[in-house]
Amino acid sequence: MNKAFEDVMAERRRQIEAEGFDTAHDDGHGEGDLALAGACYARYVGTCSPFGYTGISAPKDWPWSPKWFKPTTPRRDLVKAAALILAEIERLDRATAQTVSEPVTAVRCSECGWIGESTDLGAEGECGGEGCPGTSVNEIADPAAMIRAWHDSDGHYCGKQLADAGYIAPRPATVNEAGALDMEPGATVWDLTAVGEAALNAAKAEG
Ligand SMILES: [Zn+2]
Repeated sequence: MNKAFEDVMAERRRQIEAEGFDTAHDDGHGEGDLALAGACYARYVGTCSPFGYTGISAPKDWPWSPKWFKPTTPRRDLVKAAALILAEIERLDRATAQTVSEPVTAVRCSECGWIGESTDLGAEGECGGEGCPGTSVNEIADPAAMIRAWHDSDGHYCGKQLADAGYIAPRPATVNEAGALDMEPGATVWDLTAVGEAALNAAKAEG
């Protein structure tokens, strides 16, 4: 390994050990903050170093408190920049791994009517409804049941599945709706599509 690469790895370890930039901390940062911080250091080296490293204030797009922007020497700052960008790459990879490894299925308790996600169930598959000892929790799989669960949960559960299947679609809220729903006009509301209506009507016809 060459010296530059070793120094970047050492800086990444230092961020974790000395500054508490562990994985949980990094996951708490907003998307792109670590990359932006790294970019600020790299840009600083590229634009300011000819004029020296004195009288420095944090750039406007520095994502954290200005007191945390601490340039020292061009080489050291490039090492910091690379380590911060490495941390952002690690954060992205963890976020991707999580979305891939945890498929979430909507479920409903047939005893109390609680609607939740499969990840909210107890260790033995118990219902998450308050005070309900029920364990007869079923996956909400067919489109009509999904649409009903979606209505019952104020648009929370099954929304993604329904959207992916084309049963609901987003549109901007009208001024009247926005007033009634306490949101900004133009904010997204979701409606059943013609396909969604048909699925619901077909289920009603079957009884
Ligand atoms: Zn229950």
